[in-house]
Formats: sequence, structure tokens, C-alpha cells
Amino acid sequence: MSNLYPSIMAIIDRPDTVFVSGKGSWLKDEQGALWLDFIQGWAVNSLGHCHPAVVSALQKQAESLLNPSPAFYNKAMIGLAQQLTANSVFDEVFFTNSGAEANEGAIKLARKWGAIKRDGAYKIITFEHGFHGRTLATMAATGKPGWDVLFPPAVSGFIKVPYNDIGAVEAAVDNDSVAIMLELIQGEAGVIPATAEFLHELSRLARKHGLLLIVDEVQTGMGRTGTLFAYEQFGIEPDIMTLGKGIGGGVPLAALLTKKRFSCFEPGDQGGTFNGNPLVCAAGQAVIDTLLQPGFLDSVQRKSAYLSDRLGEISQAFQLGKVRGKGLLLALDTRQISAPNIAAKAFKQGLLLNAPRPNTLRFMPALTVSEHEIDQMIRWLCASIEGSQSIGRKMDA
Ligand SMILES: *Cc1c(COP(=O)(O)O)cnc(C)c1O
Repeated sequence: MSNLYPSIMAIIDRPDTVFVSGKGSWLKDEQGALWLDFIQGWAVNSLGHCHPAVVSALQKQAESLLNPSPAFYNKAMIGLAQQLTANSVFDEVFFTNSGAEANEGAIKLARKWGAIKRDGAYKIITFEHGFHGRTLATMAATGKPGWDVLFPPAVSGFIKVPYNDIGAVEAAVDNDSVAIMLELIQGEAGVIPATAEFLHELSRLARKHGLLLIVDEVQTGMGRTGTLFAYEQFGIEPDIMTLGKGIGGGVPLAALLTKKRFSCFEPGDQGGTFNGNPLVCAAGQAVIDTLLQPGFLDSVQRKSAYLSDRLGEISQAFQLGKVRGKGLLLALDTRQISAPNIAAKAFKQGLLLNAPRPNTLRFMPALTVSEHEIDQMIRWLCASIEGSQSIGRKMDA
């Protein structure tokens, strides 16, 4: 790692590589080398790099209208909102520019609801190791160890409990509780799924106490887990949902969705300069139209099974742990071998892999990834694990 470009704020250790183009599962750097991408901007390029449907929608929209102001309707905003509500249990959509901003909106909506319908209740129950974003309120909602002491004073009103522990949730409910907010699969925590029993109990608990059930599907939504939204697979019906990452196919788009009866913002409560602009909403339309094409989500499930089987074989061969997750959001437990080490070795071979935890590799390829590309990734992964097992032995790339 170096700091080759000091005019870029060093918020993270970046490798020296500069990427110039991409197509599907592949990136090209300025030296012309190809990289196989199993990160995809953190599950952002749902259809891979520069998918023709997304590119063409952006081109067409760029030629006609970029931003008439969020205070006016535009066709792409209306069309995308209609697609999202027609294919979910929600009635209304508010578009934002990032997942954190969508979650801020969800938090504000819940607090407003509490203020007008629940006698001023404002507390939101969230979960240890959960991730909801990097704004002050979403950091306070996040359960990353160590984050509660950053940038004090923290936004108050978030009660943190262990994930998949219904007793702990029940014990945390009091008269000031207004909502429960969670990821259905904790992504940044290392792809930890909620259990179906926990979610059923949680739903019941929310109904019993009049709490809003907010699901953060920023990572799990938009086909990532093999259905349009992950909540469909758990048999629950949330009251509020947030989307982000994959919804724009690579452009900054996110959304807050709610049922009509919880929609309580009054004019002036919520807004944003770029929200719902036609450029990004046109990309969003191209993404959802593609996901809803007959057979597309089935193909995600087939590829999920294929990737999961191959990872299972690797796990057996190297005596690693379990494969977790759903759809094309999968993780491999690397046990005693350092996952960041494996990812670093993979990077040297031209494979982009993410290691969210010391013993977890996360796989979030394009939903359009081919079996051939999965095979290629597996070969490089094998070599990277071999290289990481024999510490001190130099790997020839
Ligand atoms: C990435 C992520 C966010 C934050 O989204 P940004 O667009 O980075 O603000 C929020 N929640 C979950 C579950 C995420 O994975």
C-alpha cells in the first residue's frame, strides 16, 4: 500500500491499481491487465460492470433530462416507484442517494410515527454486529464493535441486542420503543443469516407491541439473495424497507419504502437535492426490468447452488468451515487461515475478493456471473489458499 495520489483523502488503504473499464465480471486496469471481480463494488453492480441495459438507459436519459428538481415529478422516478411497489408489499417509495441516507429516512419516519401515533415513543431496537451506514444516526444504529465511541456524542435512542435472540429483544422493549430495525442477513458482519424462527417471533413481537418492523435490505435486496427481496424467503411482511447498493446497477441510488398506513412525513420533513433524479432512476428501471425478466432470478438461484457446491468442495479439500448465505451473497468460513491473507494473495493473481472478518471470505459476484467465471475464481481461490497455508513460502503468481 502506498499513497500514490495524495490529493485523494486516504480514508482506506488503497492498492496502487487504477481501473479504467469493466465488462460483466471483469475489470481492466490502466496497464491493460484483466481482473475477475467477485466484489462488484460491494454488491453494487448487480448486473456486472457496464451492463448494456444500464448503459443504454443512462445514455438515453442523459440525452433527454438530468434533473428537473426533486420538487417535480419525472417519468423515471414514477416508473421505478411503480415497479418497486407492484413487486413488493409496499405502497410508497422515497428515493435517496445512498443506503445510509435511506436508513436515515427510515429512522426519521419511525420517530415521526412515534411522535404522532405512539405518544412520543422514539427508541429503535437494533442488533449487535448489524450495519446500517456511516452517517451519525446510522452509525449509532450500527452494531460494529467499537463504533459506539466514535465521533461523540453519539445519536441516542438506539438499543442494541444480540442477533437471533428473541428473548433479548423482548427484554429491550419498553414504552418508548417504536421500531425494530435489522438486516435479514448481516452482510458486513460476515454474511450471518437471521433464522426463520427468529424472524417469525420478531414479527409477532412487533405486532404485539405496536412496533414498526424495518428491514434494511440495502445489501440483500434487488435479486442478490435469489428473490427480488430477501424478506420473501423468510415468510415475513415488514412495515418499512430500505434498498441501496444493487438497485442502481452501479450508480448512486437507494430507496425507502413503506406501507401507506405508516407514511406520515409532512411536506418539509424529508427531501434532498438529488433525490429521485431521472438519471439514476432510469438506471434503476433497467436493473429491475432485467431482474424481472422470466428466468433471471431462477438463474441467480442456479448459480448460487453452483457456487455454493464449489465452495463446499474447497472447504472439504482444505478442511475449512461452513458456506453461509443465500443467492449470490455467500461466505466461506476459513477457520484458522487468515481470510484477509487469502484475499491479498487472490489480488496478486487478479482476483478481487472481500474478507469482512479475519476468518470470513465474502462472495458477491455479478448476478450475471457465468459458471465458467465461477470455475476460474475457484482455481485462483485454491491457489490463494495454498499460498496462505504455507506461511513464509513465496507464491509465484
Ligand atoms: C452498504 C450498506 C449500507 C450503507 O449503504 P451506503 O450506500 O454505503 O450508505 C447500509 N446497510 C447495509 C445493510 C449495507 O450493506
